[in-house]
Amino acid sequence: MLDSTPRNHSGGIAQHCGLNFMMTSRLVTGGVVIKIWRVLLCISLFAMVYISSVSSLMAGELFKVWCTEKDCGFTETIAIGPGMNFNQLGGYCRKCNKWVSIGWSWKSGTKPPVPLAKFWDPTTGKQREVYSCPNCTLPFVSVPVVQEFRYCPKCGKQILKSAQAGFYD
Ligand SMILES: [Zn+2]
Ligand SMILES: [Zn+2]
Repeated sequence: MLDSTPRNHSGGIAQHCGLNFMMTSRLVTGGVVIKIWRVLLCISLFAMVYISSVSSLMAGELFKVWCTEKDCGFTETIAIGPGMNFNQLGGYCRKCNKWVSIGWSWKSGTKPPVPLAKFWDPTTGKQREVYSCPNCTLPFVSVPVVQEFRYCPKCGKQILKSAQAGFYD
């Protein structure tokens, strides 16, 4: 009896403190959640402003691509990305032996080209699209980023290098 009273008492305090702690932590968690929501709201507002300003100042990039194999000499300047009034896609046409691109206007309502085929590429794990070359109509694979243009079309080696050569709008 003598022992059980203080034990119960201390247990009660612990329970009380535990409850207080839980309530406090719940309030703190609530505060953090509100802060996160505020941050997310700010980020989304910033992103909206940023995207709208970027879309009006959109610029494509020009790249110089060259082969590092001795005596190969392959070099090409390619344009990737949309301009202010148009969008485009491009790739290398083996038949024409050059970089080809298909453009369409943002404003005139022309629709983007329909791919001849879409397939999953097991060598990269990416979805690829094939379009008809605007010069010879043979298929070419769309290359959306310059880093994906890695194999030299002339010597076949995986040693292409690229460097940004400018912008266009
Ligand atoms: Zn072609
Ligand atoms: Zn080469």
